[in-house]
Amino acid sequence: MPSSDLLRGVGMTSQRTRDRMTGRLADHGVRDRRVLEVMAHEPRHLFLDEALAHRAYEDTSLPIGHGQTLSQPWMVARMTELVIQEAPSRVLEVGTGSGYQTLVLSRLVQELWSVERINALHRRAGERLRLLKAHNVHLRLADGGHGWPEEAPFDVILLTACASELPAPLLAQLGEEGVLITPLAQPDGRQWLTRVRRRGDSFESERLETVRFVPLLEGVIR
Ligand code: SAH
Repeated sequence: MPSSDLLRGVGMTSQRTRDRMTGRLADHGVRDRRVLEVMAHEPRHLFLDEALAHRAYEDTSLPIGHGQTLSQPWMVARMTELVIQEAPSRVLEVGTGSGYQTLVLSRLVQELWSVERINALHRRAGERLRLLKAHNVHLRLADGGHGWPEEAPFDVILLTACASELPAPLLAQLGEEGVLITPLAQPDGRQWLTRVRRRGDSFESERLETVRFVPLLEGVIR
């Protein structure tokens, strides 16, 4: 069990450093106070290897091993804003990764399911989320392209890896008015953060902004 100092952080991982990060996020257009409050409170440094922890509050993406990255704070804040705008009760995340985005979301939605395809990441994220008492999170090692059919329908499905086309199983697991938020690669290689809103049997798709995410891949690595 880490000491409270480790949880709260010191120096480059201190409360002051976190407050500076959320100050920058607000300057860069993050408006939702709830998101800023959660990110000012939660220890992002615990989601990185010790050697990188001192960089946790820089506005940059950082490696988490296995060729994957923890998204930059701005991206986490933006995605979280988009999710909670929908006032969802049931949310599915594809791409648990370090678990940081999962943690931030868990503080702001009722219940959260998150799927990761790399076992080592899935397990570490589970340890961190238990330590931080994110009791409303359910994790699964699986190819998230298939969603989590037993728990569908979801109000929001969020992908934190870039799809090259909209995964049909995920669209099918949206509720009647559900929303899918995902980076989507275009033929020219650019990635657009895309929001797809279900209206009964039809889907309306909207491009929000260009982004950079690691690709959504198939299969599970045990
Ligand atoms: N939200 C994460 C970002 C991790 S990067 C964080 O805050 O750390 C994207 C993650 O998506 C990686 O961990 C990658 O392994 C995972 N991923 C990619 N394709 C996947 C798939 N089909 N199913 C589940 N997870 C996937």
